[in-house]
Amino acid sequence: MSVLEVCNLKVSYSAGGPQILKGIGFEVGSDDFCAVIGPSGAGKSTLIRCINRLVEPTEGDIILFGQSVCPLKSGELRRLRRRIGMIFQEFNLVNRMSVMDNVLSGRLGYTGAFRSFFKAFPKEDIDRALNLLERVGLQDHVDKRADALSGGQRQRVGIARALMQRPEILLLDEPTSALDPKISRDVMGLIRELAAEFKIPVLCNIHDVQLALETCNRIIGMQDGYKKFDGPAKGMRKQD
Ligand code: ADP
Ligand code: ADP
Repeated sequence: MSVLEVCNLKVSYSAGGPQILKGIGFEVGSDDFCAVIGPSGAGKSTLIRCINRLVEPTEGDIILFGQSVCPLKSGELRRLRRRIGMIFQEFNLVNRMSVMDNVLSGRLGYTGAFRSFFKAFPKEDIDRALNLLERVGLQDHVDKRADALSGGQRQRVGIARALMQRPEILLLDEPTSALDPKISRDVMGLIRELAAEFKIPVLCNIHDVQLALETCNRIIGMQDGYKKFDGPAKGMRKQD
């Protein structure tokens, strides 16, 4: 069963401006851990951002969990976004907040403004956040400010926050490009492990082809707004 269908997707950022996506189509199934690779400027980030409508498609359609995202009004869009876990390149944590509060903020969904502090959350949310922080190896950093952590630790907070709302898909936009190679491998390995355990399909924009081949089971190659390749990572080599 496909969780996500991208159909003939076209995007221009301005009327009459250059076409950034030129008719992309693919499906993501419930078992996919799928990398989107390609040179800088290929449109990878634009593609990921269309799926939760951070970018409005100009043409084509996106069917997520069986419904078209394009016609959704703001309330429906907000509900849909709560079913999507996002992990970002720059982590997008609130620096002055604790690790725990950052993870709990995921409970409010990606677009929700964070209004209350963690004492306001029910015990089951707090237990769940603690459980996830333990799973990402940050149980000893719960009360620290987010900006007291290293880059790799910050991205682990990002992972725990994304999982907090029990997402049905994870969208990752260059989750490791701010991290060094060793830490990047650890972070991707952790995402792979948790996504497999919780049975969450993943679509991951990633610039490191070798790392994509090591951690993902499917590769979508993009170039100049087109999909150039779509196939299993197994058996592929970097120079292919
Ligand atoms: P990639 O993630 O593959 O590097 P992007 O999707 O970020 O590619 O960018 C593809 C093209 O779209 C680039 O030429 C970039 O300059 C352009 N672009 C990206 N975001 C915007 C925007 N908000 N407004 C106008 N052009 C944009
Ligand atoms: P409960 O499901 O009883 O509310 P927890 O929230 O602690 O209890 O999670 C129960 C199990 O589900 C734990 O093993 C936890 O690691 C796992 N889990 C955590 N996050 C997710 C998720 N996003 N999707 C599915 N299972 C998850």
